[in-house]
Amino acid sequence: MKPFAYVRAGSVEEATDAFAAHPGARYLGGGTNLVDLMKLGVETPTALVDVTRLPLDTVEELPDGSLRAGAMVRNSDLAAHPAVRDRYPALSQALLAGASGQLRNAATTGGNLLQRTRCPYFQDVSKPCNKREPGSGCGALEGVHRDHAVLGHSDQCIATHPSDMAVALAALDARVELHGPEGGRSVPAADFHRLPGLHPERDTEIHPGELITGVVLPAATAGVPSAYRKARDRASYAFALASVAVVLHLADGVVERAGIAFGGLAHRPWRARRAEDALRGAAPTTAAFEHAVDLELAAAEPLRDNAYKVPLARRLALDVLGRLAPPATT
Ligand SMILES: Cc1cc2nc3c(=O)[nH]c(=O)nc-3n(C[C@H](O)[C@H](O)[C@H](O)COP(=O)(O)OP(=O)(O)OC[C@H]3O[C@@H](n4cnc5c(N)ncnc54)[C@H](O)[C@@H]3O)c2cc1C
Ligand code: SF4
Repeated sequence: MKPFAYVRAGSVEEATDAFAAHPGARYLGGGTNLVDLMKLGVETPTALVDVTRLPLDTVEELPDGSLRAGAMVRNSDLAAHPAVRDRYPALSQALLAGASGQLRNAATTGGNLLQRTRCPYFQDVSKPCNKREPGSGCGALEGVHRDHAVLGHSDQCIATHPSDMAVALAALDARVELHGPEGGRSVPAADFHRLPGLHPERDTEIHPGELITGVVLPAATAGVPSAYRKARDRASYAFALASVAVVLHLADGVVERAGIAFGGLAHRPWRARRAEDALRGAAPTTAAFEHAVDLELAAAEPLRDNAYKVPLARRLALDVLGRLAPPATT
């Protein structure tokens, strides 16, 4: 057991100051990922800055019609919030598809976004892993990689991002709000996570010491039909083999706006821009959906043992698109 300091922050400033005062610190949300990684020796923080008492635990309507969820809102509370269920159903469905009831009661919005990959080599300190230890190699490349990426991977890392919630946020055009030593900023959720490239040790665009303070769901996607579907090895308590969040706005018999994001396929939620572009202005027919999804998945580069993910993701996307479009049109 490595000793570490514990600091409970009462304000955002106290949290960022405490983080700066303890090089090697980590923020502590629900602890459902961080504490597990500490037990495995993957994370060895010098200090835990507990942010669960920060006044960021509410969901509030903003004057422009958007909805802000504080970073400390628990996953269960966000999924059950009437405005989320009513206006952003894909988000509620994605949250409920993740983990278990007990874990969702503890897990926070901020911590969910920053949970680390479930790649078994990352979680085993006796194995090579460029994400955990840059330059050590990637055990999964030639090893067990049935659950790994088919899109956007590199020869440095083939891991997938695990969060279901993040996939829905990406499709819904949400933004992630951050506060750090240089003040506040916000980043589109679809650009918050990174592809591995040469630096798989960096999961996201967050700067050192920055705290996630909340996520904002925009007015533009409020009330637009949306849904999330996930395929996994067990009916609960399992991460996505593939998943999809779709936001589909039809007007005058054509697709006015589509937001599509895949989970379980890449190092970040994979926003399907090619498919979205192909659908804009098209009649919402089965043929149009198939064309768009095939265009997107043509970029897939499966590994030795995970080619099954491509047809799986295709079927999930076609199912959700078909369900969101009125039956007469497909
Ligand atoms: C058995 C099991 C099954 C699971 N299945 C799923 C699943 O199917 N789908 C899914 O999406 N998830 C799943 N999860 C993961 C779970 O959703 C995450 O562990 C949880 O969301 C993390 O939230 P937390 O608040 O506990 O984060 P913590 O563990 O507290 O923190 C995670 C990371 O975020 C950082 N952090 C926390 N809050 C902030 C903040 N506000 N600002 C900056 N940094 C912060 C921490 O320093 C840490 O690095 C599963 C977990 C377990 C244990
Ligand atoms: S896939 Fe990424 S996380 Fe997994 S062993 Fe390779 S470098 Fe590490």
